[in-house]
Amino acid sequence: MRKVVKFGGSSLASAEQFKKVEAIIRADEARVYVVPSAPGKRNSKDTKVTDMLLHVYATACDGKDITAEMEAIKARYNEIIEGLGLKNFSLDADFEEIANSLKTEPEKDYTASRGEYLNGKIMAAYLDIPFIDAKDVIFFNEDGKLNTYKTQRMLGAKLAENPRAVVPGFYGMGKNGKVKTFSRGGSDVTGSIVAQAGRVDVYENWTDVSGFLTADPRIIPNPKPIKYITYRELRELSYMGASVLHEDAIFPVRQVGIPINIRNTNIPTDEGTW
Ligand code: ADP
Ligand code: ASP
Ligand code: MG
Repeated sequence: MRKVVKFGGSSLASAEQFKKVEAIIRADEARVYVVPSAPGKRNSKDTKVTDMLLHVYATACDGKDITAEMEAIKARYNEIIEGLGLKNFSLDADFEEIANSLKTEPEKDYTASRGEYLNGKIMAAYLDIPFIDAKDVIFFNEDGKLNTYKTQRMLGAKLAENPRAVVPGFYGMGKNGKVKTFSRGGSDVTGSIVAQAGRVDVYENWTDVSGFLTADPRIIPNPKPIKYITYRELRELSYMGASVLHEDAIFPVRQVGIPINIRNTNIPTDEGTW
């Protein structure tokens, strides 16, 4: 039995959350491929790192000083690195590279993708397993759609060489040789693609609710999780705005019959939705 485990932004928003994630991964040796999102909100007033990156990109495009914004992003990661007690690990060189790109030739998708890239590097160091850069294994066509054939071939080969690995969510390589992202929430799509290419048995999608609920919990208090839902129903509801899973995350696993299990990082004993 092998599983892909994708963790959303709130599941990885702080060192404390990373520790919960580590415990989940260690609890089941089938959890071999890890797909992290960028750090999300630590509380309702917080800002997702992806939004901070998009903001600093806009600041750079306006030709304004990016120092303060870059420092704030760096602080989010350093808080995690220090909280995990990671020694001999630093993202300083990466931050220098990102700042340089913003000062010389700012690119929106590349900048936005750094949230997952940096979080993936931390995750790989913390778990002590290989890091596979998504730009080397996930490819887009000229029209911006996923190049399924090339991705499955390259990613499949890379996973075959690596029995365990971290693959950051949300991005891949565009036809022009530059980093390209999926639409927002796209780490779910990466998880599904990795599950398909790795021919795993289950795609676990770990979030901040105990599965697919009968209503949006931000509108209706205490809705119950649905135990089983078909791919078709899930896709339809996702498309209609039940934002728990990106609508494009269903097709890759559905094609090869891998079940999705939506689960809660904060209550890992809950069975979630199948
Ligand atoms: P992640 O950061 O883990 O990818 P998301 O924020 O993308 O998580 O999705 C989880 C959120 O989706 C929940 O916190 C909840 O507020 C929202 N949501 C909306 N509709 C539903 C639903 N029917 N069932 C579960 N969650 C829902
Ligand atoms: N970090 C990206 C976003 O905020 C992708 C994701 O979380 O799935 O949209
Ligand atoms: Mg999401």
